[in-house]
Amino acid sequence: MDNQPKNTVLIVDDEPLNIQVLSQALSPWYRIKAATSGVTALEVASSDDPPDLILLDIKMPEMDGYAVCQKLKRRRSTSDIPVIFITGKNSTEDETKGLELGAVDYITKPFSVPIVMARVRNQIMLKVKTDMLEELISTDSLTEVANRRRFDIVLSEEWRRCIRSNEPLSLLMIDLDFFKNINDSYGHPAGDVCLKEVASILNKSMRRSADTLARFGGEEFVAIVPNADFEAAMHLAERMRKDVEDLRITLPNTQEVVTLTTSIGVTSALPKRGSSQNELLDVADEQLYKAKHDGRNCVKGANLDE
Ligand code: GH3
Ligand code: MG
Ligand code: MG
Repeated sequence: MDNQPKNTVLIVDDEPLNIQVLSQALSPWYRIKAATSGVTALEVASSDDPPDLILLDIKMPEMDGYAVCQKLKRRRSTSDIPVIFITGKNSTEDETKGLELGAVDYITKPFSVPIVMARVRNQIMLKVKTDMLEELISTDSLTEVANRRRFDIVLSEEWRRCIRSNEPLSLLMIDLDFFKNINDSYGHPAGDVCLKEVASILNKSMRRSADTLARFGGEEFVAIVPNADFEAAMHLAERMRKDVEDLRITLPNTQEVVTLTTSIGVTSALPKRGSSQNELLDVADEQLYKAKHDGRNCVKGANLDE
């Protein structure tokens, strides 16, 4: 069994001794990261390996803890990280301000180590539960890729982000060909196995962490590919088509081997203010229809920028 602590606590204090005391108490239970300034704290919080909880001092030179908390809560990527203030400022006004800025708790110095530990543990437990719920409501239970709800959120976020950064956004609509025949020939549970395998291979075909594969409905998937132009998106779609075509799925009960193909509709756009991501969806769907009409197991695309 893996006994390594999994949850990370970021301790932010301009006084290294405070970091040392807290770190000593918490390190048997949590991975500890430390920052001695607000700027470093923000960097650590928005990194690829963000903390699950932040213990934040208030009085620090340059940027104080209130400002750090405010910035954390404003940024989408860090707004869900719980913050506990741990500070010498002990007036009612200070504490009220801290909690109003979105901190989950407020501990005054000098602090009792067992109380800090208990409060940290409570907040970490809550964070773990919240993360699990978030995962649950975003994931398709059969294929374990993003669900439709998550797709809608990611698409509008990426659309807005691409407007700001002036990057192209591509969408791939992927539909299994004659999938009804699989269910009819081998049964619905066998169809489910095929859907899982196809989702898994499509996920592997995408190589960038910013790409999102979602189950759009029944036997239809959709890939959101940010910062990919039309040519790159067509290339990815062709690889996906080929990867599915090459897939050999062995059905668990009968050991029969099943093959499948997909039709894929591709579109790309340079998102502009005032335009809508729905056009991207409509055009990808039209192209998918074309691919079906042209005999299936093929990729069709249209570049909205031309
Ligand atoms: P086309 O090439 O035109 O897309 O043909 P098709 O048979 O794939 O499309 P159609 O829309 O006629 O049928 C889709 C089938 O997908 C019918 C439905 O039962 C099946 N399906 C949808 N969701 C699931 C699922 O979760 N599990 C299983 N096993 N089958 C599903
Ligand atoms: Mg189909
Ligand atoms: Mg379909």
